[in-house]
Amino acid sequence: MFCYQCEQTARGTGCTVQGVCGKDATVAALQDLLIHAAKGVAQYAHRAREVGAKDRDVDVFVVQALFTTITNVDFDPDRLREWLKKAATIRDKAKALYEQACAEAGREPEVLAGPAAWTPAGDLDGLLAQAAQVGVEERRKALGDDAVGLVELCIYGLKGLAAYADHAQVLGKDDDDAYAAIHKHLDFLTKDAFQIDELLAEALAIGELNLKVMALLDAANTETYGHPEPTVVRVTPVKGKAIVVSGHDLKDLEELLKQTEGKGINVYTHGEMLPCNAYPGLKKYTHLVGNYGGAWQNQQKEFAEFPGAILMTTNCIQRPRPDYKARIFTSGLVAWPGVTHIADRDFSPVIEAALAAPGFTEDAEEKTITIGFGHNALMGVAGQVVEAVKSGAIRHFFLIGGCDGARPGRSYYTDFAKAVPDDCVILTLACGKYRFNKLDFDDIGGIPRLLDVGQCNDAYSAVQIASALAEAFETDVNGLPLSMILSWYEQKAVAILLTLLHLGIRNMRLGPTLPAFLTPAALNVLVEKFAIKPVTTPEEDLKAILAGDA
Ligand code: SF4
Ligand code: SF4
Repeated sequence: MFCYQCEQTARGTGCTVQGVCGKDATVAALQDLLIHAAKGVAQYAHRAREVGAKDRDVDVFVVQALFTTITNVDFDPDRLREWLKKAATIRDKAKALYEQACAEAGREPEVLAGPAAWTPAGDLDGLLAQAAQVGVEERRKALGDDAVGLVELCIYGLKGLAAYADHAQVLGKDDDDAYAAIHKHLDFLTKDAFQIDELLAEALAIGELNLKVMALLDAANTETYGHPEPTVVRVTPVKGKAIVVSGHDLKDLEELLKQTEGKGINVYTHGEMLPCNAYPGLKKYTHLVGNYGGAWQNQQKEFAEFPGAILMTTNCIQRPRPDYKARIFTSGLVAWPGVTHIADRDFSPVIEAALAAPGFTEDAEEKTITIGFGHNALMGVAGQVVEAVKSGAIRHFFLIGGCDGARPGRSYYTDFAKAVPDDCVILTLACGKYRFNKLDFDDIGGIPRLLDVGQCNDAYSAVQIASALAEAFETDVNGLPLSMILSWYEQKAVAILLTLLHLGIRNMRLGPTLPAFLTPAALNVLVEKFAIKPVTTPEEDLKAILAGDA
């Protein structure tokens, strides 16, 4: 196997024997083949749209196939084989759609090669042999390291935005233009040769597309559940039977809350579900009692200690330990072999497991944090914030956030947040916030110094806030007293990074390490064009930023 799609990749170069995430060689190969198959579907779907034909099953399939291969989503080889079977069926559907549309338009259809011509092998060995021909290593032999690294940058960006598109479509929000663009990008990536410049332009175009998809998801979330509002959330357990919900899916949480109403079960969020406590349409359920635990990489310890049932709605799942494997459940695209999957949002098995478990036997000491500073909430105090900057009460804003992971170097973000001077405000989002969100940051004239914008899915909010500040100060985002200190782990972070680059944002600090898939040549281009830089030490970085030295 060879995989270098996430930050924790082995030795900082690539996982070759077993994924650090727990992915084995079979799963890695089947995921590679699924991406190949999705490209083949997109080759036909893109051409079909050009002659006026489209199909929602095809559109949704491509998004789901991409999302399925994100780090820490699907570890189940049987399920991946089902996805591959479906890919062939959907590809045939897209092909028929294209040929029919050509016939109606009096055009000769193209005869497509490459991924479009893939026929799934009949058994696992055959699939693995096919996968070996389309993985990163084989393509590097043909295209070179620089080009494949940038192709993968594009693919990972598409995987990330597919996650956002999937969450939006689950809530009934589709964007035909986005589906069309996803197919177009995937089709582009099936070429036999690339120029470095065209790949960089493609990556930035994917960043632009991701901004639209994040806006779509923002609309889906806020139209369904209302705008997040500043909310005090309990972060310690209360006595009673319990279910903890992790992942990112708001709809799953809502359905679970409906199904547990009146059953004497308390529901907790975990990880990236924390921001759900701030949505009016979710916090209205009184048995949503707060948040349990921290970020995803602590789940094995935290879930083992949790005396109830666990629902993992999307990434990031880790290998379930035997002591909780029977009481963890998956939903949506996430899968682990041997873990019960809830495919239809009938959460009865989760409820039964919660009732069978002891629950918390007593109330813990009450501790709370405040969340819910999405773009709508912050726009409401924009005038106050602008005045505070003009008067000198607020000197600088730091956006510290992104995806968290398990590397020791990630303590950088805790140390950085602690070292931020008292006259500066910290905006945060995604699971990286758990590095410091339970610390006391106080406020500046009533404006909290730590403003939790939400999930990684809410990066759109951060962009909106930065744009509004830029407008108020009659500058662009680069002209603001705002610095971005980003942590990355998986492919949603890649999509967001591409969006920020598309917006022309310079001087971002990225850590704890730079992506292994980008070669020094590709990184140099990013450094020259966007002055992107690796994090160093909190002291040095803070000093440079506050001295105005970018
Ligand atoms: S997803 Fe990350 S940890 Fe898992 S195999 Fe790939 S690079 Fe390794
Ligand atoms: S923000 Fe990224 S790393 Fe964190 S839980 Fe979500 S997908 Fe995983």
